[in-house]
Amino acid sequence: MKWVPEAEKAVKKVPFFVRKRVRARVEKEAIAEGKPVITLAEVQATQRRYLNNMESEMRGYQLDSCFGPSGCANRAVDSTPLIPRIQALLEEADLLGFLKQTVAGKLRFHHELRVTVADCPNACSQPQIKDIGILGACRPAVTDNDCTQCEACVDACPEDVIFWSDETGRPRIETSGCIACGKCVAACPTETIAAGQTGYRVQLGGKLGRHPRLATELPGIYDEERVIRIIQDCIVFYKANSRNGKRLAELLSTADIEAYGATGRFPDSC
Ligand code: SF4
Ligand code: SF4
Ligand code: SF4
Repeated sequence: MKWVPEAEKAVKKVPFFVRKRVRARVEKEAIAEGKPVITLAEVQATQRRYLNNMESEMRGYQLDSCFGPSGCANRAVDSTPLIPRIQALLEEADLLGFLKQTVAGKLRFHHELRVTVADCPNACSQPQIKDIGILGACRPAVTDNDCTQCEACVDACPEDVIFWSDETGRPRIETSGCIACGKCVAACPTETIAAGQTGYRVQLGGKLGRHPRLATELPGIYDEERVIRIIQDCIVFYKANSRNGKRLAELLSTADIEAYGATGRFPDSC
């Protein structure tokens, strides 16, 4: 469908990870009204309808993901099986019903619990500013396979933490600076650098708004089951403590999150 430049410009202001969805919605609504071209008026009409119907569109949570599952070459993991499990968990928790019971006045999107999944540390879906952020992670492991000394791994590492060692004739990885993006694994033709621990990093407590805060990362890399359990724990804590739309990020201090990372327990109440 044809878009005039002003309409294109307006939709480009929408965060890129929801832009595709917004474009599709503008087009769907314009087609339903028999409009042959998308102008600024069509974009604004969709925006108005969205704001007027906000309450009826709410689900009690927002779950989004990066473009990894549609085939991004940077993926450290494929979160395709994880996302529907998280969705089912959030649905089952009836967060919309919870918000209706605990929020005085109109429900707003900013009350909703925000969860996002990114398939690599590039973090395109912004886990750092979500209540619960999940990031795909693949730690490299140096194996005994023969090394061709091509140094592709050294060139591939965006963090510059792989060094060639003349002494051993193999690469050496400075693990403290490795963010588990898995690029060196993908670059190695011989599996001399192979996938080691693979799963998800988890960050909790990020938000924007009047008092923005970046999420705090739990230590380690977690498998799918553990990620699900962490989200369950977050939901239980959130429902026990949130009133009037307080976000998880407002309920948990950095110390609380660090304590959870160490003990697997949130404070009983806050
Ligand atoms: S987070 Fe990584 S895998 Fe996902 S879209 Fe961005 S670069 Fe691709
Ligand atoms: S996983 Fe990424 S950051 Fe870590 S060593 Fe490999 S390329 Fe570098
Ligand atoms: S570990 Fe792999 S990518 Fe790195 S130098 Fe050896 S063969 Fe090449």
